[in-house]
Amino acid sequence: MAETEHVCQSCGMPMSEEDYPEGSEQGDFCHYCMVHGEFTSTKEEVKVKIADTVQEMTGRSREEAESLAEKKMSTLKRWQ
Ligand SMILES: [Zn+2]
Repeated sequence: MAETEHVCQSCGMPMSEEDYPEGSEQGDFCHYCMVHGEFTSTKEEVKVKIADTVQEMTGRSREEAESLAEKKMSTLKRWQ
């Protein structure tokens, strides 16, 4: 099967088929962000989650990680 570039339009996580919420064919959001058609986290919570991941993966400062998180979120559908 071909790799897709699909990422969650809320948290930016790359998604494979098992990351889609149960019963959702739309596929814009991962099952962490959306449960039964409802978002599970606020904008602030998503930002914290992305910044945590950035820090973990890159060892950047909190300030840099949060600014990268904001930049990333500005490209995602949920925050337009
Ligand atoms: Zn997500």
